[in-house]
Amino acid sequence: SKIKDMSSEVVDSNPYSRLMALQRMGVVENYERIRDYSIAIVGIGGVGSVAAEMLTRCGLGRLLLYDYDTVELANMNRLFFRPEQVGMTKTDAAVQTLSGINPDVVLESYSLNITTVKGFETFLASLKARSSHGRSTGVDLVLSCVDNYEARMVVNQACNELGQTWMESGVSEDAVSGHIQLLVPGETACFACAPPLVVASGVDERTLKREGVCAASLPTTMTWCLQGVVAGLLVQNALKYLLNFGQVSPYLGYNSLKDYFPTMEMRPNPQCSNPACVQRQKEYMDSKPARDAAAKAK
Ligand code: ATP
Ligand code: ZN
Repeated sequence: SKIKDMSSEVVDSNPYSRLMALQRMGVVENYERIRDYSIAIVGIGGVGSVAAEMLTRCGLGRLLLYDYDTVELANMNRLFFRPEQVGMTKTDAAVQTLSGINPDVVLESYSLNITTVKGFETFLASLKARSSHGRSTGVDLVLSCVDNYEARMVVNQACNELGQTWMESGVSEDAVSGHIQLLVPGETACFACAPPLVVASGVDERTLKREGVCAASLPTTMTWCLQGVVAGLLVQNALKYLLNFGQVSPYLGYNSLKDYFPTMEMRPNPQCSNPACVQRQKEYMDSKPARDAAAKAK
């Protein structure tokens, strides 16, 4: 037959072994540690679902997923969700797909609106669950992949309250630019410290939600392509942060028309309107002598 059996040539199909190669090449020192980490992803849409899949394939220990929406046919020209999942909550559909990809990842599905009182309570409680060794939360990182200002402000509030490091992501309305940003309470600007650089959102809802139609058009295609790029940048930055290699980007923008990648660093605003941010800034200043001493001892 003309079809060659390749099975003997596939050295090892274990995803870990491919990633371990990075370790052998000296890029990452201790890749297996990925299994010890937990990440919360808020918003399982164009960016969050793809980021979740990447982290699942990486062999992350535990993934907590938050979204209030259900899978619609209009989501089908995007990445990740499948037609037979229409009607399921996005978080349940994601758990279904991700557990098939890598059954070793502990997956938690939270179908809720983080901006409601009850949703916020559950969100906070789930982040705090399994906290240990003096840590205020049981997760190592929160990734914000929502598409609106209110939800970002709520993730900001939760993370400032908990002293939780998080990363924000967004794609511009015109689908030509995106960004990722690292937020460390007290140490970097929080989301309320400075006006947002990009008010990110999807394209016009009307172009997406025609009943029973898989809306495929240039704007929607550009949107999900860009969401895929931003998901990649976000996961890359998350891995660098967790596994301690390379340089973690404080802010990285991407303009797809100009291939322009702006970077910058933003200090916290002492006059920030968020009291928890101001409190974390004070703690960070107070811990400076201890941090300096530790740096000197190294
Ligand atoms: P649609 O176009 O139908 O809004 P989407 O997949 O394009 O969906 P994205 O911009 O890709 O949406 O992703 C944002 C995700 O964040 C959506 O799945 C949305 O449901 C979710 N989201 C936004 N706000 C909240 C919130 N307050 N609580 C929980 N999830 C939220
Ligand atoms: Zn602030």
